[in-house]
Amino acid sequence: MFADRIFTNAAVFQAAGADPADTVAVQGDTIVSVGRGIDRDMVGKHTEITDLGGASLLPGFVDAHAHPVAAGMAALRCDLSGLAHDRQTYLTAVADYAARNPDEAVIAGAGWYGDAFPDGFPTRHDIDSVVSDRPVILTSHDYHGAWVNTKALELAGITAATTDPAGGRIIRDHAGEPTGVLLDRGGDAVNNLIPEVTPAFMRQALLEAQRRLHSVGVTGWQDAAVGAEFFGLKDNFATYVEADEAGELTARVVGALWWEAEHGVEQIDGLRERRNRTGHARFTATMVKVMQDGICENCTAAMLAPYRAVAGHDTGQSFISPEELHKVTALLAGEQFGIHMHAVGDRAVRECLNALEHAIAEHPQFDGRHQIAHLDVVDPQDIPRFGRLGVIANIQALWARRDKEIVERKLPLLGPEREPWHFPFGSIQRHGGTLAMGSDWPVTDPNPLWAIHTAVHRTGTHADPHAIGDGVFDTPLQAQEGISLPSAIHAYTAGSAHANRQDRTGTIAEGMLADLVALDQDIFAVNDIGTAQVTQTVVGGETVYRAS
Ligand SMILES: [Zn+2]
Repeated sequence: MFADRIFTNAAVFQAAGADPADTVAVQGDTIVSVGRGIDRDMVGKHTEITDLGGASLLPGFVDAHAHPVAAGMAALRCDLSGLAHDRQTYLTAVADYAARNPDEAVIAGAGWYGDAFPDGFPTRHDIDSVVSDRPVILTSHDYHGAWVNTKALELAGITAATTDPAGGRIIRDHAGEPTGVLLDRGGDAVNNLIPEVTPAFMRQALLEAQRRLHSVGVTGWQDAAVGAEFFGLKDNFATYVEADEAGELTARVVGALWWEAEHGVEQIDGLRERRNRTGHARFTATMVKVMQDGICENCTAAMLAPYRAVAGHDTGQSFISPEELHKVTALLAGEQFGIHMHAVGDRAVRECLNALEHAIAEHPQFDGRHQIAHLDVVDPQDIPRFGRLGVIANIQALWARRDKEIVERKLPLLGPEREPWHFPFGSIQRHGGTLAMGSDWPVTDPNPLWAIHTAVHRTGTHADPHAIGDGVFDTPLQAQEGISLPSAIHAYTAGSAHANRQDRTGTIAEGMLADLVALDQDIFAVNDIGTAQVTQTVVGGETVYRAS
């Protein structure tokens, strides 16, 4: 039996305890041997041999929480996400885009960071200075703010007299005039100005995102909001189903179907129906996404104790009441859906753990792989519950560093007593919790090596243009919460594969699917992990990316 492909002279990353190996042979879509040196009996006329020259061969990365269609749409529009955090750079990009697209009636874009502006917020006058004749709507990198020009406010009818909508805020000046930044649902009115995107555009966006993810070694992902419609995003369920049926999906994708907090248990029929329409080749929808709070930076994350440095006793918002949340999770587990919850504040984390504990007790037979994403602040009492309950910590490790935005906007809101509980990934793991890793792209960059660097060192990698702030490279954010390099790789591969219920991926071993990523260096020998580059990405034995 000849191998189709052999990777040799590689630093092969395997599960703990496996015999060291430098060679992996693949036949069809499967890994057929892992060992030392090339077995000449496996080399036939058509066997392709790749010599890695001592560089790493890892299991393909699995991004356990991403929004690739949104990211792809942003990439195809006025894309600010890769730029330096600088007002003039952003405005030049907007002006260039407008000049290149004279027929676009509404300019939509995304990816700006607040730290490029005094006080964290840009204004409509900034955009007016480059485009004033048509509406411009630019979503912030975290998808919680829209930066718009005066024309957009006019057409959306937003004036000093407009009251803040439920779940949103209009930023105003001292005279009450809208300044041009609209938070959360406050952005709905302007986003409604953007012409309906076509299915073809969404399909193109998905494929663009897939191309980018493959180029950073991602072979599979969980789309953490399939069916969500807010902030200009459209229901992407059909996009995945159709791409899969057309054979265009080269990644393995799990969809987390969006739970509408405003609707009740009656939406379960629709979710079941959707799940049944998946499973053609590479796309399944076995999870449901439940949002329980917002983010700390604008005080919408649900906290046990009030935010500091703001007036009053604001403890944020739980999107779903604890009683309702118990009902929802028990219902979903009863229907054999894995539950993927968004919880940022310590109160939201506790409410989600309570609800999952209840759901697991009601349906003990179901291997749900329930997970809580983000986990910005976790009360010490709740840390052992991840391991005890078998709830997966779905972490976005890239955030756990001293970015300017975090130091200036977030830490003052948490206060010194809560700072040690910030992104407590090491503690969760030490208490037996399983970690899965994801990027939340386009909120932040999808490069797994950057996130792995931060998971280990709790500092930024020099490769990342968004690592900005005093001490971001040399002062760890809660160093005791760093995890080992093998643990971090494991989380972004086997951990996420487990979270995605893709049990034949995530590990390099005989009989597993050949989802692999080759690097240009040995990741265990480099100083700054983020500077390593992907040379080749393989899914099911097929090369889906090769560095040129
Ligand atoms: Zn997300």
